[in-house]
Amino acid sequence: MLPHGAVADRRTQAKLGGEALSAVLAALWPDDCRSCGISLGSGKPALAIDDLHVLTRASVHHRACRAPRWNDSLTPCGDARGME
Ligand SMILES: [Zn+2]
Repeated sequence: MLPHGAVADRRTQAKLGGEALSAVLAALWPDDCRSCGISLGSGKPALAIDDLHVLTRASVHHRACRAPRWNDSLTPCGDARGME
C-alpha cells in the first residue's frame, strides 16, 4: 500500500471511481520509480495507468518522470499528448 497515496489525474479518477482507485492504490507498493528506477522517496508519486485494452497496468513514478495520467494511446509509457 502506498503510505501517502498517489496523484491521479481526473480521467483516472473518473474511469476507476473512488472504490476501484482505492483498491489500486492499496495494491501498489512504494518501490522504485518505474521510469528512472530511483526510490520514490516520501513524496506522493504519480499514478500512471496504461490501458492497453487487453490489459490495464498501474504503476507509480516520480511526478517529474511521468505525469499522473490515464493512458489509452496503446503505447505503454505514452507521451503527454492528449493530456487533460
Ligand atoms: Zn523517476
